[in-house]
Amino acid sequence: AEARSAGASIGLVPTMGALHEGHGSLIRAACAENDYVVVSNFVNPTQFGPNEDLDAYPRDLAGDCRLAREIGAQAVFAPAVEEMYPSGTSATWVEVEGRLTSILCARSRPGHFRGVTTVVAKLFNIVGPCRAYFGQKDGQQAQVAARMVRDLFMPVEIRIMPIVREADGLALSSRNAYLNPEERTAALILSTALKGAEELMANGERNRGRIISFIVEEIEKEPLGSLDYAEIYSFPDLEELPETIEGSIFIAVALKFGRARLIDNLVVNL
Ligand code: AMP
Repeated sequence: AEARSAGASIGLVPTMGALHEGHGSLIRAACAENDYVVVSNFVNPTQFGPNEDLDAYPRDLAGDCRLAREIGAQAVFAPAVEEMYPSGTSATWVEVEGRLTSILCARSRPGHFRGVTTVVAKLFNIVGPCRAYFGQKDGQQAQVAARMVRDLFMPVEIRIMPIVREADGLALSSRNAYLNPEERTAALILSTALKGAEELMANGERNRGRIISFIVEEIEKEPLGSLDYAEIYSFPDLEELPETIEGSIFIAVALKFGRARLIDNLVVNL
């Protein structure tokens, strides 16, 4: 509040902690564009399903504070569950309805996006940011947050930053910590399948079904992973596309490896 009333611009980077260079890139962007940067660190129970990895989710608050400080953030906000949900749960929910929260990750994670938008709305009200930073890594989530802000006239600019990858192409994720060495090698299939699809399109392929079949076949070559989805929509609205695709398109994949569920995506302009 002091920073705000002194006229400082406030940037918020919402995270679930176990920070890596993907989060680092968001914090860096926030520091470049704002006077005062808050990194929130909260493993939000309401966005996890009953059989998901809430308890196992990696946590490292001390390391997170070190990284946030090194990059230049002014504050880490790491509330307890009881602070964010004082009565045990929330009687008020913020929910983006419709296709944006019915496709892709919503199918295998019912209620997930309602948990995300509710906690992000709470964080916006607590921190009062001018800008909030999301990663394209969770491309659907970023669009859901943008839609919430648009629909509710929240005075926050949503900034979406590119996916940060390991040298071999695997998108950084706190959940990569779940992978054993064999699964880590196998997880490369997500980014290589997307790269292969990109090459197909660079060579002129425009048929949606054929591009999806290519990705599915590539992923099924990897026996350690089981495919959750491989889908193509328009970008950024995530609308259905006709069989022949053009314009800005979003290709998203999700794959399960043991207890880890990994996602990746690609935006291409055709
Ligand atoms: P999480 O802590 O996984 O909930 O992520 C917090 C924010 O960091 C989300 O907006 C993510 O999209 C973003 N993020 C996570 N991994 C990456 C990555 N590899 N590249 C860019 N942004 C990321």
